[in-house]
Amino acid sequence: MNKDDLIVITGAGGFIAGALVKYFKGKGFTNLRAVDKKPLYQWYQLVEGAESLCLDVSEYANCVRAVENAKEVYNLAADMGGMGFIEKNRVECLRSILINTNMIEAAYNAGVDRYFYSSSACVYNTDLQKNPNVIALKESDAYPAMAERGYGWEKLLSEMFCEEYAAERGMKTFIARFHNVYGPYGTWDGGREKAPAAMCRKVIESKDQASGEIEIWGDGSQTRSYMYIDDCTRGIDMITHCDELVARAINLGSSELVSVNKLVSIVEEVSGIKVERTYDPDAPKGVAGRNSDNAFIKKILNWEPSTPLKDGLAKTYSWINGQYEDRKAGKRTVS
Ligand code: NAD
Repeated sequence: MNKDDLIVITGAGGFIAGALVKYFKGKGFTNLRAVDKKPLYQWYQLVEGAESLCLDVSEYANCVRAVENAKEVYNLAADMGGMGFIEKNRVECLRSILINTNMIEAAYNAGVDRYFYSSSACVYNTDLQKNPNVIALKESDAYPAMAERGYGWEKLLSEMFCEEYAAERGMKTFIARFHNVYGPYGTWDGGREKAPAAMCRKVIESKDQASGEIEIWGDGSQTRSYMYIDDCTRGIDMITHCDELVARAINLGSSELVSVNKLVSIVEEVSGIKVERTYDPDAPKGVAGRNSDNAFIKKILNWEPSTPLKDGLAKTYSWINGQYEDRKAGKRTVS
């Protein structure tokens, strides 16, 4: 890649893709096109120097415009959120199939060198995730398929598009299965937030409202691993520039498994605030346990996401605290 080759990133008004635009700018790339359907004032980050376009890439004509002259395309646009969102909006999640279907065709017709697709750990067979003491999921565990309803099936089928564009048409496609990404500039309120941001916000609210308590969805025994945003952007770059990984889905996640109860304890530690916990067994909670098996990524890239959860949460908590204060002061915030 020359530093002035055009990199196109969709979903850039959101969390991960916004961070990716910043990441490539930090690496010295000067020709960046950021695309999202949200109006610009709602973007989480606007990166100076990047061309920021408001386009709905579920429509083919907009995809053609989005990828014009692109050397590389990173497709991260999706209708998405935490468990609270994806369990209740399966139709919306499934409709994201239009995004990758049209983006990959437009990218192929434009002759791009490399195409990255952001998949998810929600593609994995849910039958393997019924126990909190889960055995970490390796890439082959997606089949035989029994993905998360709605969101997971959309991701699995979009992966297949990437695989077949490589097999049949010789396009270099790359697929990462993200496991719960968190960090500054992630959604922290409004219904689409994920557990780490939600727990930080709830602890801040409990202090602000002097309630001293927070509500946890489920019984808190559900286990997950959480990847810090800087590991995610670095991993996307490494995966997309590794020819051994053409059309081979790979886990991109931390392997530090914690329960939701433990997650809350870490937030208490970094914030210095102790809370009483109440539990809502009927709230959305997803699978009982899920972890990332990182044997494949370590073998291929000699690397894995390794930011300790406590370090990443300290930065995230401090950022959400700032957002909370800004909102109280009537300033514009991310969520
Ligand atoms: P996000 O919601 O912050 O960002 C997604 C962005 O895509 C939003 O800004 C949204 O407006 C945009 N978008 C949706 N439909 C669009 C369309 N038709 N045209 C243009 N833009 C559109 O989510 P995120 O956490 O940054 O996730 C980015 C990608 O990573 C998604 O594909 C998501 O499924 C995947 N992923 C994320 C996680 C995670 O933990 N955050 C985990 C697994 C997979």
